[in-house]
Amino acid sequence: MTMNLDFDTLPPLREVIAEHNLRAQKSLGQNFLLDLNMTDKIVRHASDISGDLSGVTVFEIGPGPGGLTRSLLKAGAEKVIAVEYDERAVQALQGLQEAAGKRLEIIHGDALEIDLMGLAPGPRMIVANLPYNIATPLLINWLRKIRSDPTSYQSMSLMFQKEVAQRLAAAPGNKTYGRLSVIAGWLCDINMAFDLPASAFTPPPKVTSSVVQFIPKTLPDDAPSFEAVEKITAAAFGQRRKMIRSSLKDYKAGFEALGIDETIRAEELSIEQYIQLAAL
Ligand code: SAM
Repeated sequence: MTMNLDFDTLPPLREVIAEHNLRAQKSLGQNFLLDLNMTDKIVRHASDISGDLSGVTVFEIGPGPGGLTRSLLKAGAEKVIAVEYDERAVQALQGLQEAAGKRLEIIHGDALEIDLMGLAPGPRMIVANLPYNIATPLLINWLRKIRSDPTSYQSMSLMFQKEVAQRLAAAPGNKTYGRLSVIAGWLCDINMAFDLPASAFTPPPKVTSSVVQFIPKTLPDDAPSFEAVEKITAAAFGQRRKMIRSSLKDYKAGFEALGIDETIRAEELSIEQYIQLAAL
């Protein structure tokens, strides 16, 4: 479903940026997407995995001048809650706020500090072109929530630096396989949706970006805690060149019980083996 917001009355994003002096600040990870075909594409992929956006609250982290926000509203999101740290961007979004009315709520604050779940009942999803300097801690916070309640978010469609996206989707044996791959792959089905070249952004970052989608899995009742999985992955990948008999000394009994060769290294253990060891 698409909705007729009165977009024709909204100024182009470049004008919004100029009027509000929203010059990109590196410290805030500001690389804006001004091509609405690109932001529409992100939203199209998000609806492909989550279905119609009507009836869903979409959280957007870092709306900036509001390109992706426009696309979300245009695609019929029942409600968009946009959390933005930069006061200039909050001001720049006022025109969109007037056009969207109650369907858009703008929160001026730090996404690392805000409990999104408390802001709206489900179903919820997150769609964001993340500030890269805090993308990983934000993701870890959301994954922690998903562990405690797999229905917290129906899906997350998030833009990362490609290098982080590759770590998220890496399989055992790959040199980018690590803590993030295990935790994310344990809790979610992960889909690498598409890449965007640096030139798609204003200003262009140094690297290619990728949209990654996460769909929470239902876990068995005896699944280990988030902390247990964080602990084992930190120990293993903190010393990834060592054999696990040395990096994971505390799990020795588990190697025997599960028939795991203790001379292998962190990157050779599967996600399932990490989860089994953490659950013991
Ligand atoms: N969504 C916009 C787009 O696609 O053009 C902007 C994306 S830009 C990569 C990241 C945005 O996150 C910026 O608007 C920045 O101000 C905002 N931001 C940075 N740190 C933040 C934080 N701690 N909490 C909320 N927003 C933050």
